[in-house]
Amino acid sequence: MHRTGPSSRTRRFLRERAIVLAHRDGPRSARWIWFYTEQSGVLEAIAECARRPRRHWTGTLLPLNYGQLTYRLAHAETTARLISFDLEWSPYLRGDLHRLAGPAGLGLTSYCAELTCALLTGMLTDTFLFQQLMEISHLLITPVPMRALAVAWTWQVLCHHGELVLHGGCTACGQMVQGTRQPLVWTVSGQIWHPQCRTVRDAHDLTVDPEISGILHCLRSHGIASIPPESPAWSVLARWTPGWTFLRARVETILGRPLRSLQVMADLAATPSQTP
Ligand SMILES: [Zn+2]
Repeated sequence: MHRTGPSSRTRRFLRERAIVLAHRDGPRSARWIWFYTEQSGVLEAIAECARRPRRHWTGTLLPLNYGQLTYRLAHAETTARLISFDLEWSPYLRGDLHRLAGPAGLGLTSYCAELTCALLTGMLTDTFLFQQLMEISHLLITPVPMRALAVAWTWQVLCHHGELVLHGGCTACGQMVQGTRQPLVWTVSGQIWHPQCRTVRDAHDLTVDPEISGILHCLRSHGIASIPPESPAWSVLARWTPGWTFLRARVETILGRPLRSLQVMADLAATPSQTP
């Protein structure tokens, strides 16, 4: 069928920087790709592989690769047509493939994708979060533990998204809590308390340890790139089991469901699942 007339004129070619989040096989030889783009946020695209030699895409559309994305999006369509993706950086080409393709690497990339798609779909890109994803892509080829990256990413997304506040009124007494300067406790529902005021059992002390508190403050203020790959701060974050447990629980409370990526990727979990 010929597509002529006004409808074809409403189609636009768009080009912007983007990070690959995830991909899945689509109908026939097509592929679904999810991107986090610099201006449009989470973008679902379909790549018609059948129309191009398959090798054109090989190694290009892998999670946490980034580059210049060209796509076509017709008015009122939610799925874009992928025209091209010019790779600018790929951790798979520069790093240790074994490390990236291992269970922990796959776990991290699917976790980043799930968190981004679940919390940020329908929003314009936040430049800061776009930058943080790019930093994670670079850190994938360093000795930074995958779980430390997952903790840092979750912390950034939740704080930036307003789902984790660092200061505000204590739920019990109403007095100010300054989470970066004095201890505070959170509940998985997002309330904050002075440690001495809490009346609930599922409250999490995250800022009592000054070392952890300092790292979180640094991440929040200056981003992931402010901590060099060789810094001991990354192993501290990777071993910070109570924090990881809390951050996951907070995300699952917001989503109202368990995180699928973590159900299948036990390597990133703090402890084996207790649920039957
Ligand atoms: Zn209080």
